[in-house]
Amino acid sequence: MSSDGQQSADPSQGRPFDAAQGRRGQLFIVSAPSGTGKTTLVERLVQLVPNLRLSRSYTSRPARAGERDGLDYNFISRDRFEAMAGDGAFLEYADVFGNYYGTAAADTEATLASSQDLVLVIDVQGARQVRSRGIESVGIFVLPPSAGILAQRLRGRSKDSEEEIGRRLEVACREVHECGTYEYVVVNDALDAAVDRLRAIVLAERARVKAMRAVAEKIIGTFKPS
Ligand code: 5GP
Repeated sequence: MSSDGQQSADPSQGRPFDAAQGRRGQLFIVSAPSGTGKTTLVERLVQLVPNLRLSRSYTSRPARAGERDGLDYNFISRDRFEAMAGDGAFLEYADVFGNYYGTAAADTEATLASSQDLVLVIDVQGARQVRSRGIESVGIFVLPPSAGILAQRLRGRSKDSEEEIGRRLEVACREVHECGTYEYVVVNDALDAAVDRLRAIVLAERARVKAMRAVAEKIIGTFKPS
């Protein structure tokens, strides 16, 4: 693992301690209004930071051109989604723009138990559910530089009709007020700078005493009182 993953030399053995080893992974939640660019940001982030994975959600939304089942999302029918929800398979789920989206509890648990950090890119309703269930997480809200720039971006990507764009902007007006319930806010004014800030947040969270406790104790154990 690179230094980004926090290694420290073992002075007694000359081998590095891996900070990720033996600790439970950290859950990160990234939310942002549609069109803010969060998917691009997070894809860049997981490429840059070792030991950080991007969660793959389930959705009842049909795949868009170029999207692949099992890669972008797990695309399933509404019936199957409702059956999974009824079985308690989701850590959180929500109806967003008329389609279901959810995070599988078992996938999340498997990743965190394997000491890997995980990013959920979910809407504000899903983030609220995770928090209200008392699941430890670090929330990051990504804001566009302004409402005008968000509208331009939504029109520029020409994926949606004018009516759909209007609906997304209306939802954005409500969502931005939730940013105060997250731990961090990142403004996506320029892609590289915003990715840098996200990376800084992940690395800072990994340096917290509670995340570093096992490694710190190993190092402290090499200090013998004279
Ligand atoms: P899109 O259809 O554009 O891919 O996503 C629409 C919205 O659904 C985005 O705000 C995205 O963050 C949210 N979303 C994607 N996956 C999940 C999920 O698993 N749970 C929740 N609550 N929202 C999700």
